[in-house]
Amino acid sequence: MSAYPEAAAERDAWILARRPRRNALDPLRPSAFFVEEERSAAGEIVPVATVFLTNRECPWRCLMCDLWKNTLQEETQVGAIPAQIDYALDRLPAARQIKLYNSGSFFDPKAIPTQDYAAIAALVAAFERVIVECHPSLVGNECFRFRDQVRGRLEVAMGLETAHPKILEQLNKRMTLDQFRAAAARLRENDTDLRVFILIKPPFMKEEETVEWTARALDFAFDCGATAVTLIRTRAGNGAMEELAASGDYSPPTLAAVEAAAAYGVALNRGRVFVDLWDVRHNPRCEACHEQRVARLHTMNLRQSVLPPVICGHCGGYS
Ligand code: SF4
Ligand SMILES: [Zn+2]
Repeated sequence: MSAYPEAAAERDAWILARRPRRNALDPLRPSAFFVEEERSAAGEIVPVATVFLTNRECPWRCLMCDLWKNTLQEETQVGAIPAQIDYALDRLPAARQIKLYNSGSFFDPKAIPTQDYAAIAALVAAFERVIVECHPSLVGNECFRFRDQVRGRLEVAMGLETAHPKILEQLNKRMTLDQFRAAAARLRENDTDLRVFILIKPPFMKEEETVEWTARALDFAFDCGATAVTLIRTRAGNGAMEELAASGDYSPPTLAAVEAAAAYGVALNRGRVFVDLWDVRHNPRCEACHEQRVARLHTMNLRQSVLPPVICGHCGGYS
């Protein structure tokens, strides 16, 4: 067992004390931007621009989060976010949808100044869908004020992380399943779409429970009205996760668990289920089959149908 505090009040300090250094960032430049293909709700393959905005760090201290590395400690200046979006759009090929991800909550006014909403909405007016991310507790009036200004459809991505109530509490996200459900209902009532992020094998989850709990999280997300779910392999890299790994409270999921979770979600046919392949791609466990298995998941992301598994004589497909 790790020394991770049982008392919620002590957790922020424990997590902060283990952080490595953050990256040096230019407050007027996005930390990354690119265009990639994604399957739309209507079944088309559409180019989607993603802009990772540089802004003030998220106020929560989730146990598994490493997104703070690409954030600032000071409040975001008015005008900086429109300047970053403008910079990225000038350099990106055409796309139909745009993700404005800010490593936190778009509707946190210290991260994205509300005075900038009109300028942001004008910059993204040509996109048919605008996707932002937000902690459930900040889904409120500002969100719907921004929705009113955006010409395309607004979609809000929220991290459910897990449907396991005890582990969700341990993640220090300060959110319950009921709070998530209520925020999803607010989005639905206000004609705003929901995308959900789910972690595959968060800390404290046993290997043999992983697929079952990911399946329950998928069910929960679609019960909340999700139009899309992204499955994310839980990764280390923020100091706290390394310490949990050393004490046996965290280990990354196998690719087999990722595949099983994706197959369950896609077969539900209740909405799109994507596997975030960024981290999966860079962590091969079996060199003999890794590339082929990642390619299969990529094709499943685009087709939204379960493909035959890759047979591997080396690892048996269990890696
Ligand atoms: S709410 Fe999101 S961005 Fe903020 S600490 Fe938690 S996981 Fe990280
Ligand atoms: Zn293999």
